[in-house]
Formats: sequence, C-alpha cells, structure tokens
Amino acid sequence: MSSTVSRRRFLKISAGTFGAAAAAGAAWHGAWPLAVAADGATQGVTTIPTFCEMCFWRCGGIAHLRDGKLWKFEGNPLDPQSMGRLCPRGTGAVGAHYDPDRLRQPLIRSSERGEEKWKTATWDEALAYIAERMNKIKAEHGPESVALLNHGFGQRFFQHVLKTWGVINIAGASYAQCRGARDVGYVLTYGAGVGSPEPTDIRSTDCLVLIGSHLGENMHNSQVQEFAQAIERKASVIVVDPRFSVAASKAKYWLPVKPGTDLALLLAWANLLVTEGRYDKAFVERYGHGFDKFVAEIKAYTPQWAAEQCDISAELIQAAAREFANHRPRAIIHPGRRVNWYGDDTQRSRAIALLNALLGNYGREGGMFVAQGVKVAPFGLPAYPKSDKPHADGSGADEFPFADEGITTSIRKATLTGKPYPIKGWFVYSSNLMQALPNERETIEAIRKLDLLVVCDTMPSEIAGWADVVLPDTTFLERHDELLTGYGRTGWISLRQPVVAPPHDQKPAWWIAKQLADKLGIGDCMPFKDLEEYLAKRITASGLSWEQLKRDGVIMGKHQPTTVEEGLELSFETPSGKVEFWSDQLAKAGFDPVPKYRRHPDAPPGHFRLITGRAPGHTFSRTQTNPLLHDLMPENEVWVHPETAASLGIRNREYVKLKNQDGVLSNRIRVKATQRIRKDTVYMVYGFGHGNRMLKRAYLRGASAGALNTHYATDPIMGATSIHTNFVSFVKEA
Ligand code: SF4
Repeated sequence: MSSTVSRRRFLKISAGTFGAAAAAGAAWHGAWPLAVAADGATQGVTTIPTFCEMCFWRCGGIAHLRDGKLWKFEGNPLDPQSMGRLCPRGTGAVGAHYDPDRLRQPLIRSSERGEEKWKTATWDEALAYIAERMNKIKAEHGPESVALLNHGFGQRFFQHVLKTWGVINIAGASYAQCRGARDVGYVLTYGAGVGSPEPTDIRSTDCLVLIGSHLGENMHNSQVQEFAQAIERKASVIVVDPRFSVAASKAKYWLPVKPGTDLALLLAWANLLVTEGRYDKAFVERYGHGFDKFVAEIKAYTPQWAAEQCDISAELIQAAAREFANHRPRAIIHPGRRVNWYGDDTQRSRAIALLNALLGNYGREGGMFVAQGVKVAPFGLPAYPKSDKPHADGSGADEFPFADEGITTSIRKATLTGKPYPIKGWFVYSSNLMQALPNERETIEAIRKLDLLVVCDTMPSEIAGWADVVLPDTTFLERHDELLTGYGRTGWISLRQPVVAPPHDQKPAWWIAKQLADKLGIGDCMPFKDLEEYLAKRITASGLSWEQLKRDGVIMGKHQPTTVEEGLELSFETPSGKVEFWSDQLAKAGFDPVPKYRRHPDAPPGHFRLITGRAPGHTFSRTQTNPLLHDLMPENEVWVHPETAASLGIRNREYVKLKNQDGVLSNRIRVKATQRIRKDTVYMVYGFGHGNRMLKRAYLRGASAGALNTHYATDPIMGATSIHTNFVSFVKEA
C-alpha cells in the first residue's frame, strides 16, 4: 500500500510524472473495448467508472452505456468528491459527447487569422505543420519563444513534451485569473496554499462565512453537499455579497457591502475580535508571529469606520463578527476560489487568512483541516533541459516577486513587447483565452505578432477562431488521462478511462502529445506504447491493484490525522516557522506587511459597477453550446435593482446592451430587475456571448463579461488581473 503524503511534501517529490502539481499516470486499454466488442457485451447496460471534467472539481462518476451507446453519467458512491452525486454539469456530460458543435478533425487555417476559415487536415499533416513551425521558431529565437497556455488534466502531457523540447514559459488562467492570489495570500501567512478542493470542514462547522463566494450557484459538488448538510444542522451562515445570492437566502446575516470594500470589512472584523478579546489567544501566543505589530496596524479600522466604507451599518458588522467569533474554532471564513476582483486580492486573501488565524481554526474540526494525499510511484520520465534565459511568464521575476506559477498576461505582454525576448508561438490547450484574459484587444494584438498559434480543445472556442492549427481533443468520457491523486480528509487516487469511442477523428491529449513528440524528434520522452502501460506500471509499483482501480474508479489511501483533534502536530513553512500576522518578507519586498485598506474608485455618473459570477449549469465559457446544459440556461441576464431600472426606463425581461467605461458595447442581454442586488451594482454570469460561429447553439446568446473587462488592475504581489474594475451603462435596443 502506498504511504500518505502532505500536499507540500508531495509537490517536492512528484518529479518523474506528468505535471509536478498533480501527480501520476494514466492508462490506456489499447482500443475502445465497449463500443467495439463483438461478443455481445455491448448489449444491455454496462457501467464504467471514470472522473468528471465538466469542471475541475474532478468528481468520480459512473458512465452507463445502453447497447454500447453512452446513456447517462451518475455519481460514484466510492468517490469522496462526488459522494455518489454529480452536479448538473456533470450529469450533462453526455451532451458533451453528442454535441454536434464539437471539433471533429484537425484544421489548418486557409485565410487571414480570425476569419475562421480552415482546410481539414490529417493528424500527420497537422502535427508536421506544427513541428516545422516550432523548429523554425527554435532556430530563430530559441525554444523559450514558444509558450504553453493551458488548463485541464490533458495539459500535463503537453507540459511534459514541450518542457522536454525546451519550453519554459507556461501559464494557466486558473492562476492569475482565478485562485492564485488566494494561494499566495495563504502561503505568505501559513506557508502553504489552500489548494483544491479547499480543506474547509464545512460538514462539521458551526459557522460558515462566505465572502463573494456563492456556493450553490458556484457548483463545487462536494462543497455544496457539505453546505447543504451544514444548513440542515442549523449551522450559522453569514454571507457578504452585494447580491442576495442563493447562499445569502440561507444566511443568518447578509452583508450587502458596496463592491470593492471587502478588505475594509475584514480589517474591521479583525479589529473587533482583538478589541473585544474574541480570538484564540492560545493559538496566537503559540503560533503567531508579529501579533503586536499587527494589532497596532489594524487599530484604526473600527466597525464604525468600515460601516461608512462598506455602506452597511456598524451594528451589522459587529453582530456578524460576534456570531462567527463565538463559534471559534468551529468557524470558517471561506478563502474563496475565483478571487481576482480588484488588483489587491493577495492582501484581501491574507486578511481572510489572518481572520481564520484569530479564530484558531487551522487544523481544527469544523475549521480548516490539513489535507492529506497519497503517494504514487513515479514512472521515471526523463528530466528536462535547463535554460539560461529568464522566464517571460512572470514566475520568479522581479515584476511579481511572490508569483509561484506562470502568469498568462505576462506571456501576453512579452509577446506584445518582445521583452525579455520575443514570444513567437502559443500552444493553447483547453483554455478560451478570449474570455479568460482581461482586455481582449491586447490578446488579439499579441496573436497578430505570433508565427504560430495552435489550439487544442474539444470545442471551437473564440481563441480557436484565431488559430493557425486546431486540434480536436476527445472529451473526458473518451480518453485516459493522468491519474488524479486527490487531497482531502483522506487522500485518494482516481482513474479516468475511456467509456465510449470519440464520434469523429478526435484524439486524446496524451496521444496528440506523444505524436507531436515523435515529430519533434523527442519521442523518447514518452517511453511507453500507450497510457495503460504507463498507468498500470505506476499503480502496480505503488503496491496497488490496477484491476481494482479499473473496476472501482477510486482507491482511497490510509487515513492520516488532518486535525489537532485527530492528533495532528501543526507546523508552518513560513520564514518564521509561525503564522505570520506581520510579514517580514512582504515588508522587505516593499509591500504592506499587514493588509491596508485603499479605497477603489466609484462608478462614474450614469454607470454601475459590473460584478460577475457563475451559474450551476455552466462552466466558464466551455458548456454554453452543450445541448443539455443549453436547455437549462440558454443565455445570461443582467441583474439590476428595480429602482435603478425604473430610473433608466428599463423594463424587466427586455433586451439591452451594456457599454463599459471604455466604450465597449456588449451583445444584447436580458434584464432581470430584482431587489436582490444593490442599486449601484449590476451582475451577470460570465461565459456567455460567444462570438465563434462554429458554436451554433451558443453564438451571440447573452453577453460576454470577459469582453467588457477592458479596464483591469494587476496585483503587484503576484500578477493576478482583476475582473470587477469595470463600470457599465445601459443602452436600449433600437
Ligand atoms: Fe463534474 Fe460537477 Fe463535479 Fe465539476 S462539480 S467535476 S462538473 S460533477
């Protein structure tokens, strides 16, 4: 049996696998056994476990085939992420397989970039074309001038092959456009990031505080299930959100703060806890670093002061703080996930981390447990060559001293400026950069400077519309992938295995990467016939049963203590070895050692702050054309307060357009006039308003929040780019 391992330790030892941050191998049956079996086994209902990638929560599910055809996808009861249930998107995975809009065969551009005109190609032609242009870039500028922009599980194979070839600039929007600031805020405070899934013991907590985190609309499956359990147990819920979210409807206290003032609220809460002595003194004395200096820094942030900033009453601020403080340590200020709001997000995340420290909830039941993983034997892949050049992806650079992953917009900037050296090729895997990155115009300008843009995806996203070569990936139901080594209360391993054959000439990411490696003359870096060989070797070498994993989809590790109550010894990998209420490393780098509040600009006259969020039936901009999920929610709406709507002469349900402060006009979007939002704020779900004509069902349905995000701030600590720094006015349809 494999031994367990903490997340921090695992990151250090995971060399020799595909992707240092997420572990081990994937297997390949060599064919599509269920769809092609000639012995009658395809008749009737067959079930095969695999794990979901309709989003990146990675729930274990069981695919059902009826007479050899994909029928339904349900939760795997053995799996800790799904606990036997999937969210609506996971159930809708069947629609991803049958979607008529999906990419079907390799395409090579036949006219100007962005005109969406291609000729079909064989895999051999498409990969030879890519290899030839990559080698040309390498000869002229070096391999560092090709960058990989990626997301999702299949990215590990491209990371491996491209790193072997000499690529060093790699970034995913999941970092600077999502969770990165949160993890850096926690690393600076506790010495470890939060990770995914967040180790929040919601199922046992007595009080959950959500700040701009709308669980239930944001459908992270196991977390939402635990949230429902907590509500059932009558745990106290406090929601901070300018919008009365579904979560707010379950709350004891709803704090509809003015957008952009969350940090003022957090600092006032910290002030109250300290002033009234409602914090865990034993935890702070034993594990805190710089607490006295922290107390002095937050002295001015009284609830009365915050009330003015946040536009809510001081009494509400105080009542909420006393509520969660009185439940300590069985209380959680949720660290959030997509936290790139205003450009000061690392400091806001640090303030959340420090409030949690005041509650003494680290490694405690009902608080934040310390997640455990499972160690799996490496395959023993070759090491990567070293480069003398600096990174152009912002990681480890002076520009963002605490960035510990690549930054998408830094790669874009290097492409635009040619500094520190030209970036001439982008390989984009499963990431619709047009909607994910701020300021679409900068992305288009950068693309115009490229000699090669490759997009590999299942769907024709907007970025695919600009590609020189488009490679059709299989959906997760049609492929093997790297093993999932999950971190949680108990570590686990999940297998992704093919359930059905792809309907056209789509190929799995591992196969594409392996073929590309052959074309680039580095085929030795994928030293196996297929992924089954790779996966089976790793599982067997770990003392685990390959047959069991294929049958169950999941193998649980041995439980290790994750809380003090279970015997966990706390330790912190910060410079002081303690929880850093005062950060010497931030001070040394010229940043505030304790978060400070700075007011964000108000909306110009006639404008409203645009805030964005998620819907339970869709993931980013990936699912709007899925026939099943499109039925659930075909387009987004713009939420506006009825009094605001009336003052503008706008009616509920009518279509309008939104124009932002830079004059960018959205596609038309329906008005939802509702008292569930502040009068100075409007809200929409992002991911809609697709402009790629190949997405027939989703084309121009709803408006794109990404396209309206032209004005953005960049977090100076780690490079996150904001999404809530735009103001819009309403334009009535003619
Ligand atoms: Fe799939 Fe939903 Fe789980 Fe995401 S949360 S992995 S979409 S079931």
